[in-house]
Amino acid sequence: MDYANPSHERVTIIEVGTRDGFQSEKTFIPTAIKAEIVDALIAAGIRDLEATSFVSPRAVPQLADAHEMLALVKRRAQAHIAALVPNARGAERALGAGVDEVVCFVSASETHNKANLNNTVDGSLAAVREVADIARGKAELRGAVACAFGCPFEGDVPVAAAMRVIDTYAALGFTQLTLGDTTGMATPPTVTRLVRAIERAHPGLPVTLHFHNTRGIGLANVMVGLDLGIRRYEASIAGLGGCPFAPGATGNICTEDLVYLLEESGFDTGVDLEALAAVARRVEAVIGRPLAGQVMKAGPRLRKYSLDGAACAVG
Ligand code: ZN
Repeated sequence: MDYANPSHERVTIIEVGTRDGFQSEKTFIPTAIKAEIVDALIAAGIRDLEATSFVSPRAVPQLADAHEMLALVKRRAQAHIAALVPNARGAERALGAGVDEVVCFVSASETHNKANLNNTVDGSLAAVREVADIARGKAELRGAVACAFGCPFEGDVPVAAAMRVIDTYAALGFTQLTLGDTTGMATPPTVTRLVRAIERAHPGLPVTLHFHNTRGIGLANVMVGLDLGIRRYEASIAGLGGCPFAPGATGNICTEDLVYLLEESGFDTGVDLEALAAVARRVEAVIGRPLAGQVMKAGPRLRKYSLDGAACAVG
């Protein structure tokens, strides 16, 4: 990339905060507030959202209201709405709620898959085939690989382990692929190796990168992805989310920080950063504790400060 000369290439941002972020919140967030946040995100220019998941309500009570929540979203027609589904039952429910895209997920790590989905990788891939058969032609199919760049139990994940899951998605006709850095273990070399392997094996299959900022290098990994030609990134408003294996760890990379980085690097996102930062502050108020996002606190670099305004700081 030649950052001295803005390319104005479009980068697609997929907001996952109301799914990946909210799912780890213990206190139930009222359904109407979830829908209001989705609407505010769309109003700020976000056009792709993984808005919720159709997993077992017992497993994730926070998202038991998936159907009702989507029904309350007023700006739905302006956006491409995806939902995570773990099995055939989830796929039926998601299609019943009229989602545009269903997202399947399988871990590249056998141990993590067992801990997270209580299934072998082969067992999960069989469930993916059922979901694909139900949803094909009715919604877009996205395959997500969890722990694509590392596993808290197994450590480094071999490229071949991720490719085994990816090859299945490709064979089943999935048209979108997400590489999930579930516990924030991705590094510039591991990102580069896996992206190159996918380009060789499945040229033309669009890759989306999903980084967590658990160890503080989420946006550095985005820069590596940009250099590799990747133009799709998932992120959470205000940096929502956590990691069940690392208490206190930060969640997904933060959407408004990502927009700031991309726009300042000469890419176009279609997102209004000030409006997005306002949504982030609203989310922080709803959650009731400080969240990781930086730009929502500092403002954009070229924000216009008023001399008498509280936002003006020296030092
Ligand atoms: Zn995630």
